[in-house]
Amino acid sequence: MNFEDLKLIPPIIKAVNKIGYTVPTEIQYHSIPHILKRNDVIGCAQTGTGKTAAFAIPILQLLHGKSSQNKHIRSLILTPTRELAIQISENFQMYGEYLKQSHLAIFGGVPQEKQISAINKGVDILIATPGRLLDLMNQGYINLSQIEIFVLDEADRMLDMGFINDIKKILKKIPVKRQTLFFSATMPDSIIKFAQTILNNPKEINV
Ligand code: AMP
Repeated sequence: MNFEDLKLIPPIIKAVNKIGYTVPTEIQYHSIPHILKRNDVIGCAQTGTGKTAAFAIPILQLLHGKSSQNKHIRSLILTPTRELAIQISENFQMYGEYLKQSHLAIFGGVPQEKQISAINKGVDILIATPGRLLDLMNQGYINLSQIEIFVLDEADRMLDMGFINDIKKILKKIPVKRQTLFFSATMPDSIIKFAQTILNNPKEINV
């Protein structure tokens, strides 16, 4: 199995080849076809398994062709830490090198002005930590009403860090009719219950 077999578009194959990936990892092999079919996915996967590409590559492909001239954010990735937000953003940069979609990472601990001016220019894919996202939403800088694909990354860590209420507030502003991708390194009952409230008939992937 190689990346061509996953029915990826040429600009993505070209980027992946340039990076030097030869075969998809297990989580990529199992998730990418479901995501491209617009199914919800719940994936149990640790960092280091290639999980980021497993969602970033199909998101880029699904959003390909239209970009945000109208300044709507079309995909939101929530992640618990600044470091992860930056890493995810670097992944979108690599896989999207030959595509037009724009992406931006926002997180706390830095001044908000640069983030706001980047948002105002139009962003297709927003990668965010919950606190800074809510902060900018509450100030009226971010509108999530056009989100098509929502990703919750490292869900177990998010809940451990006490982000559950922030996530619930954010979810209220995202369309119910959307595709949701849910990743967690562990799947205790609390996570499964929470996943059931936000996913719609998900495909389950364990690696
Ligand atoms: P992640 O689990 O997303 O943090 O990825 C872990 C590491 O695996 C990152 O350094 C990726 O660049 C790398 N990686 C992701 N997919 C592949 C692949 N198909 N082949 C080789 N390396 C990969």
